[in-house]
Amino acid sequence: MKQAKELLGEYGLRKTKCRLDILDLFLSHQQALAHADIEQVLGDRYDRVTIYRTLYSFKEQGLLHSINDISGAVKFALCQEACSQHQHYDNHIHFSCTQCGQTFCLNEVHIPAMTLPAGYSVHNLHFSAEGICKACNARE
Ligand SMILES: [Zn+2]
Ligand SMILES: [Zn+2]
Ligand SMILES: [Zn+2]
Repeated sequence: MKQAKELLGEYGLRKTKCRLDILDLFLSHQQALAHADIEQVLGDRYDRVTIYRTLYSFKEQGLLHSINDISGAVKFALCQEACSQHQHYDNHIHFSCTQCGQTFCLNEVHIPAMTLPAGYSVHNLHFSAEGICKACNARE
């Protein structure tokens, strides 16, 4: 697993404390995180605008991708290596657990290629699954 410092360096981003703390949070969680989740942990150190800006700049830089999950909240998750600035290649499925409410990237499950009618071009493809996650299933 990569370190936050290493990642910021790779993406040519300044290593501010806020960026490091937010990245650390993503690196230590398996599930996607909403702004509110981050604020809960780091809210006493950084104001919401700073957190918001950091998340969106990470998205711009190809470090994080956003997910619209069943809760209606926008969540963020770390991108795989293939993503770069302004160009995301996150063609995996997102899994939302109806029991714990968490969303996970299923990086190994790719969205099947599809053929669209002439005249349409795709910029983003969202594919999500709902059900019970691994952790919740193990708890039963
Ligand atoms: Zn991405
Ligand atoms: Zn679950
Ligand atoms: Zn994802």
